[in-house]
Formats: sequence, structure tokens, C-alpha cells
Amino acid sequence: MSCHKLTVPPPKIVDREFVKPLLCGPGPSDVWPSVAQALTKPILSPICDELFKASDDIRAGLQYVFQTRSNLVLALSGSGHTGMETIISNLVGPGETLLIASRGIWDQRAFIMANRYGIKTETVTIPMDMTFTPAQLEPALKKYRPTALFITHGDSSTGTVQNLEGLGDLCHKYGTLLLVDTVVSLVAVPFFMDEWGVDAVYTSTQKAFSGPAGISPVAFSARAEQKIKTRKHDPPFYFDIKLLAQQWNCYGNTRAYHHTISPPLFWALRCCLQEISKETLPATWARHAASTAYFHKRLRENTFGFLIPKPEDRLATVTTVVLPKGYDYLEFVKYMRAKHNILIFAGLGPTAGKALRVGIMGVNSTIKVVDAVVDAMVDTLVALKKSSL
Ligand SMILES: *Cc1c(COP(=O)(O)O)cnc(C)c1O
Repeated sequence: MSCHKLTVPPPKIVDREFVKPLLCGPGPSDVWPSVAQALTKPILSPICDELFKASDDIRAGLQYVFQTRSNLVLALSGSGHTGMETIISNLVGPGETLLIASRGIWDQRAFIMANRYGIKTETVTIPMDMTFTPAQLEPALKKYRPTALFITHGDSSTGTVQNLEGLGDLCHKYGTLLLVDTVVSLVAVPFFMDEWGVDAVYTSTQKAFSGPAGISPVAFSARAEQKIKTRKHDPPFYFDIKLLAQQWNCYGNTRAYHHTISPPLFWALRCCLQEISKETLPATWARHAASTAYFHKRLRENTFGFLIPKPEDRLATVTTVVLPKGYDYLEFVKYMRAKHNILIFAGLGPTAGKALRVGIMGVNSTIKVVDAVVDAMVDTLVALKKSSL
């Protein structure tokens, strides 16, 4: 026995009960009941047949949800930011240029990360309530000939969805790779990696996938793969796609241990993909479009406004809702949780103090959930008006 004295006593960690709220913020969202079950499956080593087979299922499911035939498809241990850091650090070396299409908070994060890696950054900025046209990006592509362009598909800080059609061809014309964040859009809105010429894409499990955060899918095109093979720099060990591709058997000849993937998260992601494959992409896209159309109709009928002026720019998963004059956004969010046990969020970054962010996605993309959320929002509107009189 050690003769050292404990200087820190054990803390009293008591059991804490709480009633699960309805998760209707910009993420995380509620999980499929089957995913909650999958999280309780036995812990296994990453080096065993059961997990090898499950990883093959995950890769097949990811090729489906990204709509890519690329072999370089796998999942990273970490939340959505891991995907951002991985695609940037693997594809753009120190001293090379990353062009950032900026309209919200996620591109700001990409800017910060790129700078930490010694990457040169150039930015094209538009107002946060708009989306880009190719004509707004082409002059910068032409001028800087960047290694890559970073753009967010669905932006949960502003509630916009970026049209990506044609952007791949435009980037490739200037020798630029197209990097896309689909964390809050994938499986809720159409996305076609191969057809749109996207070179690297990442997403996350805790938004429209309706799973827990902590395991993030990524995919790379043949162009991106070529860059990874010929690059002169080394990305961080934990995010190195060359090594991870061997762990995930992307080329069919290796099952090399790189790190221990969390088995519960592994099973959960596999289960999300099973659910999405059963429903099929066209059906899940249609379900999200229908619930959100109904949500927006009910918002309009109840004097709520929209931060994003053009309906075609509005994201199907996260809506930025403007309250009538005189309401405090943080107070509104607090009341929704206290009285109705519904979790929604106030604005973030450029939308702070300007809007609520309400997420109707994944398993919560239903008429029933929309009604529950709008009824509670109407009640909150009335209650906070009364209390402020
Ligand atoms: C939520 C979100 C992220 C960050 O994901 P984390 O899981 O919190 O790391 C990145 N991009 C978009 C568009 C998001 O909505």
C-alpha cells in the first residue's frame, strides 16, 4: 500500500433525476428508439470480426447517405468539429491557401482551425441571411487559385441552405478542391457527393441522423485521395486519413489498429444508417420538407417571423425564427424549457439576439412534434407578454 496521504477527498456524486426534454434545438436531436437500444450492446475490441463486419456495414451506409462510390469513406472519433479539422488538415498544407465562403459561424471555425495549421486563409463574405451564387465565388477562385474552398451546406447558425450544384466544376476549373460541411443537412436535404463534384465532406450523428454525438462520418473523392497520397505535410496523427483508411479497411486489405473506436457509438451509427436505409433517402427528404413546410405555415399563422428572407434559402432542419418586437430571445428559450420542457436555442454568432433557432429534424421531423413546439411557442408568446405588462 502506498504511504502517500490523499489530499483530495472523494466527491459525493449523487444520483440526479431529470425528465428528458424534447430536443428541438439546432442539435443534438432525439435519437431513434432502436439507437437507444444499440447504445447498450456489449463492448467489444475494435479488432474482432463483429466490429469488422459492422464497419463494413457503416461504410456501405455512408456511401449511400453521401451518394458516393468512393472507397475513402469512414467515421472519425469525435463530434462534427472533428470532421472539419480532419478534412482541412489532411487536404491543405501549411503555406497553402484555403478559401472560405463565409456566412455564419462554422466557416469562422474553419478559418480559426486553418490558421492554427499555418494555412493561408482568404475569405469571401456575404450577409448572414443569404447564400452564395457561383458568381460571388469565382473571382476569388481565379485570383487565389486556392488548394481548397470551404463552404457550409446547411448553416445551423443562420438557418440557410447553400445550393451546391455546379460548384464542384467551378472549383475544379481552378485546380481547387471543394470541401463541404453537411453536419446539419445530410439525410434531411438532398446531397449528391459524386454528382456535385464534392471532394471532401463531413457530417455528424447528432443532428438529422438522430444519434448521439461522438462519431463523425467523412468521405473523400478520387481528387482528394490523390492529394492525400502526394501531400508533403503530415496532419495530426489522430486525424490522419492515410492511417484511418487502414483501420477502416477502405482498400480491402487492412484492418490495422489505429485507436479504439467507442463501441456504443459504433453500434449507434450503424443503427442510424440502418434506419435511414430502411426509410430511404427520398422518403426522409420528403418527410423533412413536409414537416418543415407545415412548421413554417404554423409560424406564419401565429405572428412569428423568419430571419431568412428568401424561402428557397431556408434550411429544412433549423429555422431561425424572429419574435415580435419587445421579446427577449434568451428569456423565451428559458421559458420554453421551464414550462414546456422543450429545448430550443437562441441565435449564435451572427444571429445572437436576432432569432431563435428551432430544429425539426431526424425522428422529430413529424407533424406531431411541430404541433407540440408551435403550441408551446404560442403559449410562451402570451405568457411573456403578460408578465412584461
Ligand atoms: C452542429 C454543427 C457543427 C458542429 O458539430 P459538433 O458536433 O458540435 O462538433 C458543425 N457544423 C454545422 C453546420 C453544425 O450544425
